[in-house]
Amino acid sequence: MNKNEVRKLVIAGGGTAGWVAAAALSYKFQGIVDVTLVESEEIGTIGVGESTIPPIRTFHRLLKIDEQEFMRATAATFKLGILFEGWRDGHDTYIHSFGTLGKSTWACDFHHFWLHSQTKGFQSELGEYCLEYQAAKEKKFATSPQSPINYAYHLDASVYTKFLRGFSERYGAKRIEGKIKEVKQNSESGFIEALVLESGQTIEGDLFIDCTGFRGLLIEQTLQTGYQDWDKWLICDRAVAVQTESTGPAVPYTRVIAHEAGWRWKIPLQHRVGNGLVYSSRYMSDQDATDKLLREIEGKAIIEPRVIRFRPGQRRKAWNKNVIAMGLSSGFVEPLESTSIQVIMTGVSRLIHLFPFGGVTQSFIDQYNDDARSEMEKIRDFIILHYHVTDRDDTAFWKYCREMEVPEALARRIQMFKERAHAWQADNELFRVDSWTQVMLGQGIAPAHYHQMTRAMSDSDLTRFLEGLRASINRSIERMPSHQDFVDQYCPASSDIWGARKPSVGNA
Ligand SMILES: Cc1cc2nc3c(=O)[nH]c(=O)nc-3n(C[C@H](O)[C@H](O)[C@H](O)COP(=O)(O)OP(=O)(O)OC[C@H]3O[C@@H](n4cnc5c(N)ncnc54)[C@H](O)[C@@H]3O)c2cc1C
Repeated sequence: MNKNEVRKLVIAGGGTAGWVAAAALSYKFQGIVDVTLVESEEIGTIGVGESTIPPIRTFHRLLKIDEQEFMRATAATFKLGILFEGWRDGHDTYIHSFGTLGKSTWACDFHHFWLHSQTKGFQSELGEYCLEYQAAKEKKFATSPQSPINYAYHLDASVYTKFLRGFSERYGAKRIEGKIKEVKQNSESGFIEALVLESGQTIEGDLFIDCTGFRGLLIEQTLQTGYQDWDKWLICDRAVAVQTESTGPAVPYTRVIAHEAGWRWKIPLQHRVGNGLVYSSRYMSDQDATDKLLREIEGKAIIEPRVIRFRPGQRRKAWNKNVIAMGLSSGFVEPLESTSIQVIMTGVSRLIHLFPFGGVTQSFIDQYNDDARSEMEKIRDFIILHYHVTDRDDTAFWKYCREMEVPEALARRIQMFKERAHAWQADNELFRVDSWTQVMLGQGIAPAHYHQMTRAMSDSDLTRFLEGLRASINRSIERMPSHQDFVDQYCPASSDIWGARKPSVGNA
C-alpha cells in the first residue's frame, strides 16, 4: 500500500453536515474507505436548518433514499418556494418559486414575452405561467413519478440527522460518541494524524472532514485557515429560534417576513412549526429580537427561544492540508434562501469526484477550493440582491442595505436587468434564470426594455401562447389536492415523532 493512500476517513461532528457526508461517502465508497464519525451529544447540534431547495432530491436519488420513508421519518412537508413578505416596501408579497416560468426559447427567456404582453395591455402576473407558483399560492400539491413539478422539503433537522445516521450505519459507517479534546498534527507537514477524545481514545485517520459547526475545530482552531467576512454586505449576524405548535394546515412554502432590522422565518412541518427571527446586532438587541419573535409567532412555543450568533462569510480555504471543512465550519452566507444544506451536498459530491485515494495533492485541493469559493460567492450575491434592491428606507437597517455598494458582479447583473431584463445562470451556479428573474422583479426592478425578438410574434399568437400556458396550468391546479391532504395520505409522520402532541383523528 502506498503510504499516502487514503483508507481511513474521519468525520468530526455529527450535525447535518457530518451525517450528510457520512451517508454519501459510506454509500459510495463502501469497502474502499473506512468512514468513522465522532460526535458529542453533550455539545449537540445547531438544531436549525429545516428548509431546503430542490437539488436535495437529486442527492437523495443518488443515495437511493426512498422519498416516502424519508418524509415519514422526518415529519417533512413539501416546499414549492419562498413567500417574501414586505421586502420591497413593507407591505408587498411575492413568491420565489422553484418552477419554470412559462416556456422559453433558446434565444429569449419567457419573462421577455411576458413583459412584451404587459405593454400590449395583457392583464396577468408572471406567476400565472408557473405551475409551482400557482400551486404554492393555492396551497395545493401533488407529485408522482411522471410529474414535472419541482419541489424541495421542510424537514425536522434533528430527526434528519438520525435518519442519515441509520442510513450511514447500514453502509458501514462507524459512530464514536465523545468530545474531541486534542487534534494531533504531523510535526513536519502539519497534516492531521489523529483526534484524541476526552476519554483518552485516539482516532487516527488519513483524511478528515471538519463538520464541527461554527467552531471549526480542525480547519480553524488547529490549522488556522482564516475567514473572509462578508459583513459589509450581509449585515444580519444573529437569529433567535423557537418551535411552536401548528395552528393550521401546513403550507407548501417557507414564509420570510421582513422586519425593521432583518426578517423572520416560518417553516411548517407536520408536527410543529419552526420559527426564527434573523437580525442585525447593529440595529436590534437580542432581547428586542426575542420579544418581537415571541409577540409575532402564532401557536404555543414548545421550546425556549435560543439566540444563535453567526458570521456571514467563508473559510479562506474549504480544503486545507488533509482537512475538508463542510457545513458551518466552511462558512455561512445566511439562511434566507435555504442554501446551506445544499452547499454541504455539493461539497460532498465534489469530494467524491476529486477523492484523493492515492494521496492528497495540491492540484486537487486548489480545484476543490476554487469551485467551493465560486459557488459560495454566487449564492452570496443572490442573497445580497434581496436586501439591496428595495424601496424600503423606513429604518436605518434598510437605508444601509439600499445604499451599500454591492460586489461588482452583482452590480452588473442588476444593471443588465434594469436595462434590458437580462438574467442568466452562470456556470456552476445554484440559482437559475427563473430565480434571478422572480427575485429581481419581486424586489421591484422595472426593466427599461426587454428582448426585441418578442416583437416577431404577432399579438394574436402572443395571446394564444399565453392563454394556452395559463389554461394548462389552471387545469393541473384544479386536479391537485390541498398540500395538507396530500401529505396526510402520502407520507404521514411516524407516530414516534409526534410525542404527546399527536392530534386525534380528523383534527389534523
Ligand atoms: C439561524 C440559522 C438558520 C438556518 N436555516 C437553514 C435553512 O433553513 N436551510 C439550510 O439549508 N440551512 C440552514 N442553516 C444552516 C444549517 O443549520 C447548517 O448548514 C446545518 O445544520 C449543518 O450544521 P453543521 O453540521 O455544520 O453544524 P452543527 O449542527 O453545529 O454540528 C456540529 C457537530 O460537531 C460536533 N462537535 C463540535 N465540537 C466537538 C468536539 N469538540 N468533539 C466532538 N464533537 C464536536 C457537535 O456535537 C455536532 O455534532 C441555518 C443556520 C442558522 C445559523
